Amino acid sequence: MKILVTGGSGLVGKYLQDILPEAIYVSSSAYDLTKMSDVREMMIDFEPNVVIHLAARVGGIMDNINYPVDYLEENVLMNTNVLKACHEFDVGRVISILSTCIYPDVLDTYPIKEDKLFDGPPPPTNFAYGFAKRCMAAHIDSYIRQYDKKWCYLIPCNLYGEYDKYEEHHSHFVSALIKKIYEADGEITLWGTGKPLRQFMYSGDLARVIKYMIDNDIVDNFNVAPDEVYSIDEIANIGKKSCLKDELVVNYDNTKPDGQFRKDVDSSKLLGVLKDFKFTSLEEGIKKVYDNFSKRHNR
Ligand code: NAP
Repeated sequence: MKILVTGGSGLVGKYLQDILPEAIYVSSSAYDLTKMSDVREMMIDFEPNVVIHLAARVGGIMDNINYPVDYLEENVLMNTNVLKACHEFDVGRVISILSTCIYPDVLDTYPIKEDKLFDGPPPPTNFAYGFAKRCMAAHIDSYIRQYDKKWCYLIPCNLYGEYDKYEEHHSHFVSALIKKIYEADGEITLWGTGKPLRQFMYSGDLARVIKYMIDNDIVDNFNVAPDEVYSIDEIANIGKKSCLKDELVVNYDNTKPDGQFRKDVDSSKLLGVLKDFKFTSLEEGIKKVYDNFSKRHNR
C-alpha cells in the first residue's frame, strides 16, 4: 500500500506523520494543487494507491469574510484536480476532509447527522469555503455512483493542537485562546458574545481516526467530533482552569462577529464502527497544547 497525503505540512498532516510514518507527505512547496500539471506530476512521481487529501485553504472567520473568492477558487481547484487525477491514475482509496462548518447555518434538530449536509445554505460567514467543500462531497459521491469508487470523506469539527499556526488571520479559536491566556496580563478579550456553542477536537484524534480507517479498510462518510458541546464562554473558563490561570478576567468584544450559533454534530455512526475510540477531553487537550506552547516560548 502506497499512501500519499496532501497538506502534509498542515495541522492534521503533522499529527498523521507521527502515527503513519510510512506515508508520503506533500505540501504546496512541492506541488501547487491548484495546477493540474503539478497534480499529475505528483501522481507520476509517487504512484499512490491510497490518497489522504488534507490540503485546503483554511482560515479564521475574518479571512473567510474578506477573501471569499480565494477560498472558493483555491479549494474548488485543489479538490477537483486531486479527485480527477485520482481517477486518471486509478487510486483505489481516497479519504477527503470536509468540515462541520459547511453544514446548513440553521437546522431544526441538533446534533447534526451526516445526511443533513445539503439541507440548507452554509453560514454566510464562510459560504465560499462551505460551497467549495460541499462541491467536493458531491464530486466524490458522483465518482462513487458512476465508477463505484472506494472513496469517502470525514466531517470533523473545529480543531486545535500543538502544530496549529498562531497568526491572527489563520488561527482557530482554541489555539488563539491558548496564546491569549499565555500572553495575558490579567485579562483577555474574545470576539463576539461568548454565547455560540462549539465542539472542538484535538487534531491528533482526527489523525487517529484516519489511521484506523486505513488500517481496517473502512470506507464510509462520518462526522468526527467529541460529544462535548460548550459555549465559547464555557470553553474560555475550561481554558483558564486547564492553564492554571483561574484569576484571568474574560471580556467580550460584541463588535466582532460570533459566526454560526451552533453546528454540533452527532458522531454515533463513527463510534459504532470505531469501537472503544476515546476522544481527548477539552481539558486534557488544552493542557497539553498550553504546556507545549509555554515550553516553545520559554517561560
Ligand atoms: P492547515 O494547517 O491550514 O494546512 C493546510 C495544508 O494544505 C498545508 O499543508 C498547505 O501546504 C496545504 N495547501 C494549501 N494550499 C495548497 C496548494 N495550493 N497546493 C498544495 N497544498 C496546499 O490545514 P489543517 O488545519 O491541517 O486542515 C486539514 C483539513 O482539515 C483541511 O481540508 C481542512 O479544511 C479540514 N478541517 C480543518 C479544521 C480546522 O479547524 N483546522 C476543521 C475542520 C476541517 P503549505 O504548508 O505548503 O502551505
